[in-house]
Order: sequence, then structure tokens, then C-alpha cells
Amino acid sequence: MFNTHTPEVQFAIQAVQQAALLVRQVQAELVSPALTKDDRSPVTVADFASQALVARLLSQAFADDPLVAEEDSAALLAQGSEQDLQLVTQFVTRVTGPADPRQVCAWIDRGRADSASRFWTLDPIDGTKGFLRGDQYVVALALIQGGQVQIGALGCPNLVDGQTPNFNGSGSLVIAVRGEGAWTTSLESPGAFQPLRVSVQSDPSQARVLRSFESGHTNLSQIDRFTEALEIHAAPLRMDSQAKYAVLAAGGGDLLLRLIAPSKPDYREKIWDQAAGALVLEQAGGRISDLDGKNLDFSAGRMLANNRGVLASNGTLHAPALATLAQIGA
Ligand code: AMP
Ligand code: MG
Repeated sequence: MFNTHTPEVQFAIQAVQQAALLVRQVQAELVSPALTKDDRSPVTVADFASQALVARLLSQAFADDPLVAEEDSAALLAQGSEQDLQLVTQFVTRVTGPADPRQVCAWIDRGRADSASRFWTLDPIDGTKGFLRGDQYVVALALIQGGQVQIGALGCPNLVDGQTPNFNGSGSLVIAVRGEGAWTTSLESPGAFQPLRVSVQSDPSQARVLRSFESGHTNLSQIDRFTEALEIHAAPLRMDSQAKYAVLAAGGGDLLLRLIAPSKPDYREKIWDQAAGALVLEQAGGRISDLDGKNLDFSAGRMLANNRGVLASNGTLHAPALATLAQIGA
């Protein structure tokens, strides 16, 4: 069993749990079938409420630690967003106690910090499209020290046992600590932590491949060429967010591809989209690199500026998958 009693691990567990449960309340109360397709208000409210809450809790736990997070209050202060800001304030103060909108914006903007020798990185809702569609999304938080992810935590409202989609269950909290493994427990009532372990699949043709649900976040024709080259017949599993890393870490998949979308050839991953999931996977025995086999470099600012795409695997399948990516020119 890993040591849950360090202040950093305690904070990561509490912050991700409380933010994920808050976001789930927003979804239950604001996401309705009546929403028009491009009404992003519920995800805006949930995103900002989650970031405000985690930032507030971080100030209480580690006042001096920088936070590198996805959102910025500018969008909430823009004209026409008054109602969203009010809703954000209503939701976040359910957990924090009374605060005014100005204070809530100040909490959110704690996330503007630059990376440093020690900092936290947060995706308040990873998988916003999944959140709106009623699919997978997570709250992802990581501690990075000396360029290495030390703690990774995922709050997954729509997974059970860290790997099985379930939309009425208690959700999963997944946590990894460098050198101490990756673990999962119930999101609603964290208790016994179960260890996560990757699959032992060594036959590439039997690999269960995970990919982004959104086609615009990957390269479909390269996925086809990849699976053809390895004679993989099963269709890739489409899933939003870093829930994919939890599934891979739990042995519910064998390979994960983040290929470069043809429409965005220069796309670079954001650190908050990868840090927590990467450590979860590594601590469960898996491997993660970019498409060229290079380690992910979390010391290059808000983006993985020195990496192209991501290949993640159960470890055993990493070398054949990398060779195949090179062969198809991905
Ligand atoms: P996924 O759920 O796998 O689609 O990944 C979601 C994340 O992909 C979002 O948080 C975005 O930051 C990120 N993203 C946005 N555009 C792209 C893109 N063109 N390629 C890869 N990832 C992207
Ligand atoms: Mg994201």
C-alpha cells in the first residue's frame, strides 16, 4: 500500500475528488437534452468551477506552489458571460463557503502561473466534448517536480474500478505516486485502494487500441494503416479524456494512440492533458513516449514543446507499435 498520508497525496486526492463531484453536480443540473448543439454554457460553468475549487484548496494546502491550469477568468469577465460567472460562483461556494465573483476569478487566475522547479498542473475538465455528450471526462491534477511527474490524480465520474464505463456508479478516483504504484478507489467514498496493473498482451494483432472519440484530435487514416500493418481486426475503442490512461493502466486496453490531426500538423500537447495520465500508466507498469519514442518532457513550459503526439502502451507492445508508427510515417 502506498503512503496516502503525505500532505501532497492527501491534497491531490481531496482536490480531485471534490472537483469531480462538483462537476458531476453541474452536469446533473445543467446538461439537458434541450441544450442546443453549440451551447457550451454547462461545460464553461463546470470547467471554471472545478479550476476555482482546486486553486482555492491549493492555496490553503500549499500557499506557495504555482498552478499551471487550462482556464483564465478573462472569458468569464467578457460581456455576455455574467450569468455563467454567477453560476460558477454558486456552484463553487457550495464547497468553499461564501465568496464573491471577484474572489472566485482570483482563484481561477492562480492557474496563470508559469511552470517552475515545483508546480501543479490541472485540467479542470479534460474531455469537455465527452462531458457535453454524456460520455467520459475527468478532472486531472499532477505535481511536477524537477521536470518529472511525482503525483498524478484523475477524478473519473463515469468509470468504475478505474476502467469500466458506468454512468450511474460511484465513479473512480485514480492516483499514482512515483515509485509507489497506481491505485484506484471509489470517487464518492474513497476507501480501500486497489492496485492498477497493465495487461500482459504481447501479440500486437490482439491489441485493444484506444483513441480519442473526437476524430479532429487524431489521424484516422493513420490509425487505419497502423491497425492494418499490425493485423489488428478489432475496431479501436473511442474514448474522451485521460480516462483512456486509467483504462490502459487497469488492463482494459493495450495501446493508446494520440496521432497528429492532419488539420493541425504542428499541434503540441498541453501538459495538463498528459501529466497525470502518464504517471498513472507508468506506475501501473506501462510505457509512454511521443510518436518518435522520446520521453515526454514536462520541463518545457505549458506545452510538451519537445514532443510530437503520444504513444502509450502496456510496455510489452511499445517497441512493435513504435516500429509500426515509423513504418507508416506517423
Ligand atoms: P481527447 O479526449 O483524447 O480527445 O483529448 C482531449 C484533449 O485534446 C483536450 O483537452 C484538448 O486540449 C486536446 N486537443 C485539442 N485539439 C487537439 C488536436 N488537434 N490534437 C490533439 N489534441 C487536441
Ligand atoms: Mg484536456
